Amino acid sequence: MTLLKGNVDAAVLAAGTELLHTMKQNSLPKQPLALVNLKSISGLSYIKEEGGTLKIGPTTKLVDIANNTTITDGYRALSMAASHVASPLIRNMGTIAGNLLQDVWCWYYKASDNNFNCIRKGGAICYAQAGDNRYYHSIFGGPRGCYAVHPSDTAVALVALNASVVTTTRTIPIQQLFQELAPGHTLTSGEIVKEVQVPTPASGSKSAFMKVAMRDSIDFAIASAGVWYTPATGAVSDVRIALGGVYLTPRRATGAETYLKGKAVDATSADGAGAAAVADATPMSVNAFKKQLAATMVKRALLA
Ligand SMILES: Cc1cc2nc3c(=O)[nH]c(=O)nc-3n(C[C@H](O)[C@H](O)[C@H](O)COP(=O)(O)OP(=O)(O)OC[C@H]3O[C@@H](n4cnc5c(N)ncnc54)[C@H](O)[C@@H]3O)c2cc1C
Repeated sequence: MTLLKGNVDAAVLAAGTELLHTMKQNSLPKQPLALVNLKSISGLSYIKEEGGTLKIGPTTKLVDIANNTTITDGYRALSMAASHVASPLIRNMGTIAGNLLQDVWCWYYKASDNNFNCIRKGGAICYAQAGDNRYYHSIFGGPRGCYAVHPSDTAVALVALNASVVTTTRTIPIQQLFQELAPGHTLTSGEIVKEVQVPTPASGSKSAFMKVAMRDSIDFAIASAGVWYTPATGAVSDVRIALGGVYLTPRRATGAETYLKGKAVDATSADGAGAAAVADATPMSVNAFKKQLAATMVKRALLA
């Protein structure tokens, strides 16, 4: 903690599947000078349900979240999302906090040897805007000229499930963990995620997560959707829908939520909700196809 709060450029290390990779690739202009290893601290990996809340420790592995029966039974969107992250090897190492706090994804921003001094790094150009924005770029605009996307699958499910994040200083709704501008999250220097909390969904509600990627076996989402709604049958009274891989943060699809309220979920209403989720999309030069994919992920998740 002293290191993290001090003058040294220190970073929190969980499993390192993102952080060490970025450092080895030399993708960013500045490297941390010290790493504080959370995985050597015992007691930070757990999954428990207490008083109507699912509590997940920060170093809990993605594989454990994917396979935990409390989560598969009661928090389906989260287990579906965790089981879709990257590959078995990465899920066996990667942690929930690391997954949520990974940096945004863009093949120019994350290029090795810090090759592109893009807008996010303080440069003047968004290379994706003029160049190849096929897969891993926003279809909902680029605040301050950055069109990268948030890559975390579990974040999308957790937004749909109305989760909160407990840090060393505060508890915030998960949506407030993310921000468009660098570094992509709202943690302050030395602030560490201590726990992820998910309210137990109302009985009779339903949740799901769907994702489309170029390589199903190991790849970031081109588009994904996490949904929660209640009741599972009959007219929907409450619903949350989140999109992934299409914006700088997980994106709440409020238009789709409004559209769905009062309707029973069926092929027609799920189609309509998908269309409403992307109605305000403003795709880039060659990624308009992602609009249909995101709409389809919403439809499939609602019907899953
Ligand atoms: C080839 C490849 C494919 C991938 N595909 C996907 C994918 O399809 N979907 C997906 O969601 N992800 C994907 N990922 C990302 C992967 O899931 C992340 O690398 C992993 O989840 C990060 O977890 P970690 O424990 O290794 O975090 P680390 O690499 O250790 O840390 C990641 C970031 O989180 C910060 N951090 C970690 N824990 C805390 C904490 N408790 N408090 C504050 N900050 C913290 C670190 O400082 C760092 O900035 C992929 C990664 C690779 C390499």
